[in-house]
Amino acid sequence: MAETFSRFPVAIERGEGATLCDSEGKAYIDFGSGIAVNIFGANDEKWKAAVCDQLSRIQHVSNYYYSEPQLELAELLCFRTGAKRVFFGNSGAEANECAMKAARKYSFDKYGEGRKKIISLNGSFHGRTLFTLTATGQEAMHRYFGPFVPEVVSVDANIGAVKAASENACAVLIECVQGESGVEALDAGFVQALRAFCTERDILLICDEVQCGNGRTGKLYGYEHYGILPDIMTTAKGLGGGLPIGACLFFEKCEHTLQPGDHGSTFGGNPVCCAGAVSILSRLTEDFLLEVQGKSEYMRAKLKGFDGVKRVSGLGLMIGLEVDGSSKEIAKKCLEKGLLVLTAHEKVRIVPPLNITKTEMDEGLTILREVLRK
Ligand SMILES: *Cc1c(COP(=O)(O)O)cnc(C)c1O
Repeated sequence: MAETFSRFPVAIERGEGATLCDSEGKAYIDFGSGIAVNIFGANDEKWKAAVCDQLSRIQHVSNYYYSEPQLELAELLCFRTGAKRVFFGNSGAEANECAMKAARKYSFDKYGEGRKKIISLNGSFHGRTLFTLTATGQEAMHRYFGPFVPEVVSVDANIGAVKAASENACAVLIECVQGESGVEALDAGFVQALRAFCTERDILLICDEVQCGNGRTGKLYGYEHYGILPDIMTTAKGLGGGLPIGACLFFEKCEHTLQPGDHGSTFGGNPVCCAGAVSILSRLTEDFLLEVQGKSEYMRAKLKGFDGVKRVSGLGLMIGLEVDGSSKEIAKKCLEKGLLVLTAHEKVRIVPPLNITKTEMDEGLTILREVLRK
C-alpha cells in the first residue's frame, strides 16, 4: 500500500455500536467513527438490512437509468433541507468538486466569462483532488502539488477579508464547523454577514457539510445553527453510514445550472450506497437529534473538568480538545488503553457514533481522563 497514512499497528476486525474489536481480540471504545462516518456505529441492524436488501436486487445501475434508492435519497435530502436537486458522487472531495464547477457555470450562464473566483477560508479542509486541495486553506498541504487551479483564494474568516477578495468571485466555500484543522465553529455574526453579502452580490454560498453534516452537530446540518440557508450544500462522510457516497445539493438559485454533459460520475448514486443512506437519514429525526444534543452536553461537561484540558471546542458530537502535550501522543496512549480518538492538528478530535450508549461514553471518558492526567 502507498505510505499515505501513518497507521497504528492494529487491524480492526469487527464491532457492535461504538465498541470495536481488533484481530487480537482486544476491545476499543470508538470515539472516531472511522472519521465521522459510522453515524450508527458498527453492525447497525437497520442499515445492514437496507443495504443487504438492495444488494440482493441490483448492485449497480448506470446513471443513464433511474434507480429507486437514488430517487428516494434525493427526495429525502431535498425534503429535509429545502434543496431542489441533488448530484451524487462517491466522496466529499467529489461533492465539493461538483459544487465549485456548478458555481462557475452559474456565473458563466448569467454574467459570461470573467467571474470565476472561488473564495475559501484559512484553516479549511475541502478534499485532496487538485481543485478541492487548492480551496483547502492550509499551506502545508499545498507543498509539491502546484500549479494549482487558478482563481481560488483563501482568506481569514472575517467579512472584511471576504469583501476585499470578492472582485470577480462566483462563490464562497465554508465549513460551518471546521473539522480537520481543529474542530472550530465559525462565528455566527460572520456567517450571517457573509450570507447577506453573498445574496447582495449574487455570489453563491457553498456550505461544506461533509464532516459537520448528517446530525453530527446535533442539528441535521451544521448551517442550521446559524439560521441561514446555503445556495449549494455538500455532504458525504456520515451520510452513507459506512459506504462511500457524496452528495451536492442545489438550492433554488442554481437548481438548473448543471445540464446533460456538464458533469457526471460512473459510480455516483450507487443503489446499495443510496439504500444505506436512506436508512441513515430517515432515522436522524428531531427526537434523535435532541438525544445527540443531550450526549454532547454530557460529554462536554465531563471533558471540561478533566486535568490537562484547556478548552473544549466544536458543536454537538463534533468535539475538539485543546490539551497539554501532543495530541498524536495522546491518541497513541488512548489506543493502548482501548480507546480510539482522532486528532485535528494540535487538538484531540472526538466524533463518536451518534448512537453511542452512556456506558460506552463513560468507559471512553474514563480512559481519556487517565491518559490526560498522565
Ligand atoms: C473529509 C472531508 C472532505 C473530503 O472528503 P473525502 O470523502 O475524503 O473526499 C471534504 N470536506 C470536509 C469538511 C471533510 O471533513
